[in-house]
Amino acid sequence: MRDFEHHTPTVLTIAGFDPYGGAGIQIDSKTIHALGAYALTVTTAITAQNSQGVTAVEAVSPEIFKLQLETLLQDVKVDAVKIGMLANASLIDIVIDVLKRYALPNIVLDPVLLSTSGKALLEKDAIEVMVQRLFPLCRLITPNLDESNMLLGTNYDGQMNQSVVMGKGLFKLGADAVLLKGGHTSEAEAIDCLVEPSGVACFSTPRVETTHTHGTGCLLSSAIATHLAKKLTLKSSIDLSKKFLYEKLQASSDLHLQYHHQDMCKKEPIF
Ligand code: PLP
Repeated sequence: MRDFEHHTPTVLTIAGFDPYGGAGIQIDSKTIHALGAYALTVTTAITAQNSQGVTAVEAVSPEIFKLQLETLLQDVKVDAVKIGMLANASLIDIVIDVLKRYALPNIVLDPVLLSTSGKALLEKDAIEVMVQRLFPLCRLITPNLDESNMLLGTNYDGQMNQSVVMGKGLFKLGADAVLLKGGHTSEAEAIDCLVEPSGVACFSTPRVETTHTHGTGCLLSSAIATHLAKKLTLKSSIDLSKKFLYEKLQASSDLHLQYHHQDMCKKEPIF
């Protein structure tokens, strides 16, 4: 007999495709499944990349993007949405329309702008559309230090006293809450600052020295969306997700991919 009372939570990830497997929809799917939900995946763009960075990006057409979303959403109910790389303004327009029409809950946006190697993952003219029209639909946005500086037009280095100022500045851009991530600072602890209407809260884990940092932002945002899909509070979702990321970073040295050039500096997958 089918049990209609209990269902496996579903998380829809809308993100880029990474053939190297460490970022975008691949790490999102791995994370969502590892945390006990079911991943639905809609691709915004195909990238070409490896441990040295992103060499090419091609957005999918608006037509197939819209069809991926509509076909899925006419059928499956979604408990949370993680949004990552959005590529351009046409795709953002479609996301906004779909989020509203299907009244999708628990929207977590990782405002991906650039790859570490400097490739644009969102076109410049789309940033304003994302901020003005997509941020207000989000339960949470999760910018890192570089993205926060780009969004605010500032040049902070992310020391603790600045993080709260930055977080409050980002909160004014319209999302329900902001998690300013501390992974890119030089502090010994990786401290993320949550700013929401009820105040500020910080989440801290020790910094893990590792080359396996490719996809950390994707992992964290999809883990938070998964916990929200399981009906946890925002604070518990962030706390558990940060611990999950810390555990995965600690265990990441077990992952041994073979490379053609072992002597080159690499940014490797987490798991
Ligand atoms: N590729 C995709 C599809 C991504 O979503 C992201 C980041 O979110 C990246 C690449 C960037 O990865 P990295 O931070 O390792 O440069």
